[in-house]
Amino acid sequence: MSSQSDSGPAPPPLIAVGVIRKPHGVKGEVSVEVWTDPFERLLELTDVVLVSPDGDERREVGIESVREHGGRALIKFDAIDSPEMGGEFRNWTVEVPEGQARALEEDEYFIHDLVGMRVEDADGTLIGTTTEIFEGGGGLLLTIREENGESFDIPFAGSICTVVDVPNKLMKVELPQGLRELTKIESAPPVSGHSNVRQESLESREESPAAPTLRFDIVTIFPRMFESLLSEGVVARGIKDGRIELKIWDLRDFATDKHRSTDDEAYGGGAGMVMLAEPVIRCVEAIRTSARPHEAGLTPKIIMMSPQGKLLDQKGVVGLYGAGWLVLLCGRYEGFDERIRESIVDLEVSVGDFVVSGGELPAMTLVDAVSRMVEGVVGDRNSVEADSFYNGLLDYPHYTRPAELRGMRVPDVLLSGHAEKIRKWRKEQSLRATASKRPDLLSSAVLDQEARAILEEILRDQEGR
Ligand code: SAH
Repeated sequence: MSSQSDSGPAPPPLIAVGVIRKPHGVKGEVSVEVWTDPFERLLELTDVVLVSPDGDERREVGIESVREHGGRALIKFDAIDSPEMGGEFRNWTVEVPEGQARALEEDEYFIHDLVGMRVEDADGTLIGTTTEIFEGGGGLLLTIREENGESFDIPFAGSICTVVDVPNKLMKVELPQGLRELTKIESAPPVSGHSNVRQESLESREESPAAPTLRFDIVTIFPRMFESLLSEGVVARGIKDGRIELKIWDLRDFATDKHRSTDDEAYGGGAGMVMLAEPVIRCVEAIRTSARPHEAGLTPKIIMMSPQGKLLDQKGVVGLYGAGWLVLLCGRYEGFDERIRESIVDLEVSVGDFVVSGGELPAMTLVDAVSRMVEGVVGDRNSVEADSFYNGLLDYPHYTRPAELRGMRVPDVLLSGHAEKIRKWRKEQSLRATASKRPDLLSSAVLDQEARAILEEILRDQEGR
């Protein structure tokens, strides 16, 4: 413990209510990503502390005005008078003393309370310590460091973090099989500061084992496109087994005119139609109120499929799995009226830096990837664990009969029946594939000693050539 200064009691800890992202306009306003919920809380503040990204510098400032703009707050601080000054405060957090922050609700926690917790399994066996919490793209993820120094991430969801005991700094977790290995990769930057976060409330998954583990609601004007997803493959099987629930909502049923219109011309002119806001908002309202008894208290995460969204990766998939109930909005034409995003969307997700003509195929991609996380959906858990990206590496090559095909032989080791040699060969191939096809992944993959040694050899080989 560090000793206290002699200037009296320590000031109360600061709670971050947002972060400055960029200057806005010529008067020195800055655009602030708001972390308080509801947004209006911010309007009540008059004096705040700006804290530099490294936490070393603090400035007490007054708030002259706040207005909402595109889901962010435009704030005029008395100490910032120009766009240039605003730029200097990029990524500084806006913080208030803990006492001024809104009282937490039952499933809400301060980030600083969640870090440094002892993590145990249901039997009380030590698993590790929480080291950080961050936005995984689809939901909050919590990093746990084990005694041996290795770390992995879990969704901060009620179904997994079953007990969060802040006074005793204790968390009980129930890890789905394979989750630990799945997320054993280096972590994304933590959510900075001391903001508050809300736990995804999925307790009901526990209470009624018969209830599906995951619920998807798809909003589309082409419901029939989803027929194949519903009838064939792993997702269809997960639905049949009751592990996944998937509902398709025909947006036209929520249109407000007799033509059942779901789009209209763009204001400002230009080619192409725009998806109307009202039917989408009505449909999402219907989805929210369609929660069945076992889902009472759950809140769906409203996701807009969009090429402007956060790129989906395996970590994002784990986060979305943790969220439990996902509503996917599929756009068409030029996309959605912007006010949909502003008013009801929690997250925009993209499946790649290219544009396809509708959100249906991206949504199916997301549904499939997230469904694979549900135990039992993919028949053999080991096959998920061997997949590309599972441990931050690409998969090893696969072969099947015949042993010789048009003069090409299957590597001898695979025919040898020697399990240990096969394991090592596959590990080496996995590292080779990653080093040659996706070297960018190596920096964030967590490698054990054996893997590091193999990789060194591979890299030496590459240089030698
Ligand atoms: N004008 C829009 C693109 C519209 S494409 C823009 O440039 O942002 C029509 C719809 O297809 C989008 O609304 C979105 O739902 C879907 N879509 C297109 N590309 C996508 C991608 N890479 N990821 C997710 N959804 C995508």
